[in-house]
Amino acid sequence: MGGPTAGNNCRGTVSMNVTRPKIVSLEHTDAARSKLLVVDWNVGNRCNYRCSYCPKYLHDGTLWQQDAAQAHRFVDAVSEWSSGTGRQVHFQWTGGEPTLWEPLQSSASRAVNLGHTVGIISNATRPRAWWERLGPVWREVTLTYHIEYSDYDKFVSVLNFLTAFCSVHVNFTMLPDRFEETRHIAVRLTEEHRDVTATLKPLLVSFKNELYPYEDEQLDTLKTYRFSTRTAAKQDRTCSRMRVAYEDGTQNTVEASRMVATRANRFLGFSCAAGIELLVVHGNGDLFRANCREGGNLGNICGTFSLPEGPIAICTRHACSCLVDIAVTKRRVEN
Ligand code: SF4
Ligand code: SF4
Repeated sequence: MGGPTAGNNCRGTVSMNVTRPKIVSLEHTDAARSKLLVVDWNVGNRCNYRCSYCPKYLHDGTLWQQDAAQAHRFVDAVSEWSSGTGRQVHFQWTGGEPTLWEPLQSSASRAVNLGHTVGIISNATRPRAWWERLGPVWREVTLTYHIEYSDYDKFVSVLNFLTAFCSVHVNFTMLPDRFEETRHIAVRLTEEHRDVTATLKPLLVSFKNELYPYEDEQLDTLKTYRFSTRTAAKQDRTCSRMRVAYEDGTQNTVEASRMVATRANRFLGFSCAAGIELLVVHGNGDLFRANCREGGNLGNICGTFSLPEGPIAICTRHACSCLVDIAVTKRRVEN
């Protein structure tokens, strides 16, 4: 998959305390994003890699039951539902390694033919010819470079194909004992490919809360390193930057990951457009409004499910920890 790492989707990152006035709202800086429904769709936990930092349950193939008929039915249902709300849909597949999922190509084509956009988070393991067969369907792609398995030339070959027509972000998973080697590859790749964006991703032990034992210098690099590539011309649809308004009337623009880092990701008592701007499918097919599971289980895409009729009236969670969950409109209702 794109690599479950710190700061990617539901994984936390290094924290620091900052005093600030209360947040009253969180809105998309890109107006088009607030009219979009993002479907964050995990197809299961099968993967061809066995990264040492990845817990077995994320790649052992025990969840791999979503079939083509079920997937197509879900695409159609979401498409029909969204047409009633006037929203375009962006389907984003993840895993495991979603390119191993047989219904991917037909589901992506179906979504595009229905007028929606598609994206994927992949380890780029499929050869360029595989990506070429599917054609220029992707709106945005996140590729993760896993130092223990990725082959630079093959990775770059896929990257070259994708950057010709879509926005590509590359994550580099930073194992402490291969840190310099990975950083060197990241610098080379971003110097040779000026149109990608890239991140050095800190790793959490078993993808839980504890950072790998980085040296101080490595931690400094992870916190401060910025690549000098051009910002990708086409805007990222899933984690756009958010405009934060405070009770003193000030506003600023913040990346979702930055809100986690500064512990500003607290929306208890806010209304939240999860379920309207975001739907989340888990590897077993369970459907939720967001990764936080607020609003409960909406069913299972392999069986019966319903699509939500409205947003979350009041968030009851003490923290909003997932980056895709943060990147959803929220407004303070209760103090
Ligand atoms: S690519 Fe690596 S981190 Fe991602 S699911 Fe496969 S084994 Fe896990
Ligand atoms: S925790 Fe869930 S309901 Fe609460 S703000 Fe985040 S996404 Fe919305």
